[in-house]
Formats: sequence, structure tokens, C-alpha cells
Amino acid sequence: MSEVKQVDVLIVGQGAAAFAAGLYSSRYQVETLIAGEQFGGETAIGGTIENYPGQPDIDGFDLMMKFKEQVDKLETPTEYSNVTAVEKNGDVYRATLENGTQVDAISIILAVGRERRKLSLPKEEEGTGNGVSYCSTCDAPLYRNKKAAAVVGGGNAAVEGAVLLAKYAETVYLIYRRDKLTRPEPILLKVLDQTDNVKVLYSTEVAELLGSDDAGLTGIRISQPWEGQDELTIDGLFVEAGADPRLEIPNQLGLEINPDTGEVHVDKALNTSVQGIYAAGDLTDGTELKQTITAAAQGAIAALSAYQHVLEVKSGWQEAATSTPAGVSGD
Ligand SMILES: Cc1cc2nc3c(=O)[nH]c(=O)nc-3n(C[C@H](O)[C@H](O)[C@H](O)COP(=O)(O)OP(=O)(O)OC[C@H]3O[C@@H](n4cnc5c(N)ncnc54)[C@H](O)[C@@H]3O)c2cc1C
Repeated sequence: MSEVKQVDVLIVGQGAAAFAAGLYSSRYQVETLIAGEQFGGETAIGGTIENYPGQPDIDGFDLMMKFKEQVDKLETPTEYSNVTAVEKNGDVYRATLENGTQVDAISIILAVGRERRKLSLPKEEEGTGNGVSYCSTCDAPLYRNKKAAAVVGGGNAAVEGAVLLAKYAETVYLIYRRDKLTRPEPILLKVLDQTDNVKVLYSTEVAELLGSDDAGLTGIRISQPWEGQDELTIDGLFVEAGADPRLEIPNQLGLEINPDTGEVHVDKALNTSVQGIYAAGDLTDGTELKQTITAAAQGAIAALSAYQHVLEVKSGWQEAATSTPAGVSGD
């Protein structure tokens, strides 16, 4: 069996929260390891980031490269593999990675973010990458000079996606199940209003995906007619319907989940309900504002808490090692 790596702090994830945690943890001079397969998280594929202080209008990927470069300067090691399991192992936690590596850590910071929501319709899986996408900022340019595309959702990402797609496709349908857009930032709604080739279909859902394995997606059937049609011919469908926290590891550890939001419950020091386990970023109920800056800030705070736990556990080990065992005092 391969050797088990021993670290003080294991950081699970490779997004803003994870890199910020890595930066702070390494500066506390504790053995730190970052583990995760996908570099940069959602920020790296979020397109232009206009609201990260000090870095105006920076591409999300470039911003994450800057995070990583800062961490690399401190020679913080990274395992490019996802964590599949974490369990308690005496005073420490043992994590198993997809590549088979095992890691024992005194503190673990979970920064695994959220998983994009799907429509759960027949043909969705087969259509993914063949007309169905979950990232308009990544795939919008593929629709240059296409006749039509549709975006499903009613939050910032959906409106941003529709406006971006409108630069490429002739017509963009924004399909939203409620009768009013209330969640997007007002500045985005203003841009949407000014974008003539986006048609907003309120109180409407996608009822069926049309197409075939060979042709890919060719259209959608909608829950109520729009301008007399209940089928829309489109070249691409973008599902921007939100995301759910990734709870596999939190559930393995029995972490408390906020019943209202479904997020990992944390206190202001980013402690979870289990000692030695911390959570940061979009995974948590630490703040409603799910942004790169808040994820990074939470990563930094979690690193402090994780560090303090490392010191406590190690001082317990030291005390146990130096205390004289009963019956061997020599007199
Ligand atoms: C389209 C879009 C546009 C956005 N635009 C902006 C913007 O303009 N400004 C802004 O501030 N914010 C923006 N955001 C929000 C911002 O991207 C997130 O708030 C931020 O990425 C959260 O960081 P995080 O580290 O918590 O999670 P994430 O960035 O989601 O990172 C999670 C990381 O964990 C990894 N992971 C998952 N499971 C495992 C596992 N089992 N083991 C190891 N690693 C794992 C993932 O691969 C990923 O690397 C945008 C988001 C989207 C989707």
C-alpha cells in the first residue's frame, strides 16, 4: 500500500476560497496541501470579472492565475485530483483522493463550491456539448452567426448569459418560470432592456428538448405558447438555473446543513459543526453574497481557524509525549 501523506492542513478545492486559504495557511508556516482537479473553479470560467477590487475588468481565468502564482511563491504543494472521501482517523482526518493518494490532516478546509443545476429532462445528458451547455460565458462564442439560442434561468448568470449570447446569435430567448425578473443586479437589467435581440419569455418553462443524437439539439417545446408557437427552433440551449452546494464530503462527515439554504452551516470563524473541519466560499451559508471576493475572504478566515486547531492538537500531542507515564517514575 502506498504511503499516507501527513499534512497539517488539507484544502479541498481549487477555486478562490481554496487559493486564499492556501495563501494564508502557508504563511502561518504549517504543512499545507491543496487538492482538486479543476483549476480556478467558477471564477476561472466566469468571463470578465468587473467587481474584484484592485483588478478592474480582468478575465476570471487570469485572476485565478494570479491567486495561484501567489500561492506557488510559497511553494504550497497541489495534488491535481479530487477528494472522494474523508473520515476521522484518531486525532486527524484521512482523505482519499481519486488518484489513490491518501492524506492525513489535522484540519481540513472544504472549499468545493457548487454544482450547476440541470433541467432533468430526457435528452439533456446526450445533448450536453451537442447543443446544451451550462456555461454561457464559456460557450457563447460558438453561436456566432447562428439564428437563435435560448437561456433558462432568472438570476445574474442567466441575464449575463443572454446579453452575451445576443452579441453572437441573431435572436436569444430568455426563458424564466416566474412573471418578473427580481434577482439580477439592476445594472444588468438595464443592459438587458437595451439589448433588442433578447426576448424574455416569462412564466415559461422548457417542457421538452427536441433533436436527435445525430443532429444534436434542434429546438425546444415550451410550457406555454409564445407568439403563437409552442416550439422554438434554436441552435443552443444554455441552462443557467443556479447551482447546489456540493454536499458529498459534508454528508460523509455529518456536517450540519442549513435547512433553509441547503448550504454547509458555518459560524463567523468558518467552523462547521465538526471540530477540525472548516468550510469556505459558495459551499457555505456564511454569506448570501456568492462572489469571488467573499469566497476569498472566507478562505482566509478559515485558514486562521484551521491553523489555531493545528496548534491546539499539536500542543496536546506534546503534552502527552512529555508527561511521565504512570508506573515508570523510577522511585
Ligand atoms: C457564470 C458566472 C459568472 C460569475 N461572475 C462573477 C463576477 O463577475 N464576480 C464575482 O465576484 N463572482 C462571480 N461569480 C461567482 C464566483 O465565481 C463564485 O462566487 C466563486 O467562484 C466561488 O468560489 P469557491 O472557491 O467557493 O467555489 P468554486 O469557484 O466553485 O471552486 C470550487 C472548487 O472545488 C473543486 N472541487 C469540487 N469538488 C471537489 C472535490 N471532491 N475535491 C476537490 N476539489 C473539488 C472544483 O473543481 C473547484 O475547483 C460568477 C459565477 C458564475 C457561475
